[in-house]
Amino acid sequence: MGELITQEGFPYSFDSSACSECKGRCCIGESGYIWLNPKEITRLAEKLNINRDEFINKYLLKIGYRYSIKELVFNDGFKCIFFDTKKQMCSVYEARPAQCRTFPFWDYFKNNIREVEKECPGICKL
Ligand code: SF4
Ligand code: SF4
Repeated sequence: MGELITQEGFPYSFDSSACSECKGRCCIGESGYIWLNPKEITRLAEKLNINRDEFINKYLLKIGYRYSIKELVFNDGFKCIFFDTKKQMCSVYEARPAQCRTFPFWDYFKNNIREVEKECPGICKL
């Protein structure tokens, strides 16, 4: 077991060493939105060496007034377009948005611990 990460207000801790065995369950599976703010869009476009408009057209979906990362059909579900299935990791890891960085500590999971436990093998109930 690796270092257990805790966050105030959350009824669980997270063992990040589980990620090497798990191979990205938080990036594949059920469909879901991964929201990006304008700074994150710019950072990812720079990371991929393309201009902002091209990046938005190729990789993002506009939902209302916000942008979310596109998903692709994968096995019986979906995967984030940036998930590299060969390496089984995020292909834009250094530039991934805050929503990915803060997983599994999302406010929604405070009261839905079963959902996060099902998805993420690094969860340890306190
Ligand atoms: S689901 Fe949990 S253990 Fe698996 S890669 Fe994501 S954060 Fe790591
Ligand atoms: S951007 Fe990277 S970390 Fe975030 S869901 Fe996609 S593959 Fe996973």
